[in-house]
Amino acid sequence: DTPAYKGEATIHTGLFIGGKWVDPIEGGTIDYNWAASFIRLDFAINPPASILAYKTVWGLHYPGAGRGKLLNKLADLIEKNIDEFAALEALDVGKVFAKAKVIDIGGAITCLRYYAGWADKVQGKTIETTENKLAYTRHEPYGVVGQIVPWNFPMGMVSWKIGPALATGNTVVLKPSEITPLTALKLADLINEAGFPPGVVNIVNGYGHTVGQAISEHPQIHKVAFTGSTLTGRKILKASAETNLKVVTLELGGKSPLVVFDDADIDQAVKWASHGIFFNMGQACTAGSRIFLQEGIYDAFLEKFTAIAHDLAAKTGDPFTPGTQHGPQVSQIQFDRIMSYIDSGKSDGAKVHAGGERHGSEGFFVKPTIFTDCHPDMKITKEEIFGPVAAVIKFKTEEEVIDLANNTEYGLACHVFSQNVNRAIRVAHALEAGSAWVNCAQFTDIAVPFGGYKQSGIGRELGEYALDTYTQVKAVHINIG
Ligand code: ADP
Repeated sequence: DTPAYKGEATIHTGLFIGGKWVDPIEGGTIDYNWAASFIRLDFAINPPASILAYKTVWGLHYPGAGRGKLLNKLADLIEKNIDEFAALEALDVGKVFAKAKVIDIGGAITCLRYYAGWADKVQGKTIETTENKLAYTRHEPYGVVGQIVPWNFPMGMVSWKIGPALATGNTVVLKPSEITPLTALKLADLINEAGFPPGVVNIVNGYGHTVGQAISEHPQIHKVAFTGSTLTGRKILKASAETNLKVVTLELGGKSPLVVFDDADIDQAVKWASHGIFFNMGQACTAGSRIFLQEGIYDAFLEKFTAIAHDLAAKTGDPFTPGTQHGPQVSQIQFDRIMSYIDSGKSDGAKVHAGGERHGSEGFFVKPTIFTDCHPDMKITKEEIFGPVAAVIKFKTEEEVIDLANNTEYGLACHVFSQNVNRAIRVAHALEAGSAWVNCAQFTDIAVPFGGYKQSGIGRELGEYALDTYTQVKAVHINIG
């Protein structure tokens, strides 16, 4: 087959600091990850980079409309290079090229344009207080913001982070995941081309336990935004608590329930449930990985769901081949992790309905997998697998399924399928999660807040809500007597 993309990408392989490419350490690279040393990280924060940019040209010096213009310009430049970005994402993560183009890169463009629109609309309030006094509020940026992103949606997460941070006047020190840095590096060149003042956006590659940790501890960063695992989120919160109490927003893991009642439209439910667990090869924090089926539709749902899993398995392969629907997992580590979960499901007594094995004999391909007869105590039912593995559980009553679904430390998302509007809304409200999808599953809208309950996170991204998480409120009192 002719590949979907034939081209060459040129990217720099250093650290992008103060608008220039800088060697990771004096004298060259550490390894292919071009990891930043602590000294270089500090260089990204202290003059000549982000602090200076914040104090002299950006922050409260640059008009909101101007910040919006730059964000729009950046979005236009990404759009101009959309194929190259999608190809880099497909190479780095294993994403299907055609999907990466629309979902990952298209989504990032939409996000930057959305926040470009907000850049001149950040407003405070006027408050009448006691006699001869007046107060008003200003939503001021934090200054230098640290941003740490994961590997499952590299460009998507970069856009969710830099969009609202820049729109509200912060400067940014961003660390991509060490295993998927390519699109962030490509973006760096476009940041200069768009015309951002040097130092407003700095991109520092490196490992989590070194550079990520250093960002979390740095005394001149007062806000960190993180997307990744709950384990790492805990470390970042701890580092912040032990240093300068920086404000931390965390978007963490999940084990989201997807509940299908007897009165659901089965075809619709099966279609969305498949998307819910197999999208991005299951590597999504909002994956609907625990599927609760009411006994009346159990068999019919399972038959159709299994057919979709088999169909996807038949369309598994090279992300660049047209027609491919399902690519590999991101890395050997993730592949091994998922396979060990599959083994645990089998040895714990769950029944394999589809998949349950690798696809082919090489690469990191895992067949879309459906386990039934899952018990709430099994590892595959309790822990986040981050792979295309669904754990199916049968239930009888609404009351029972609410308890089962809420029996988790996570609370990122939930899904309810029912044609009974009262029940659908009742259950969506009863489930403990930051996002509830009713008769649909797992998508985000740039205008709608996103974030977790319980151990799935702190704070909200997207929509107008994100503006609040990138600004601090100053109350100004005036004596007018
Ligand atoms: P995963 O386990 O899915 O790789 P992580 O939460 O470990 O997810 O990684 C998400 C991001 O967090 C990556 O950019 C990674 O480098 C970074 N990271 C990992 N460990 C730390 C840490 N101790 N402090 C700060 N960032 C970290």
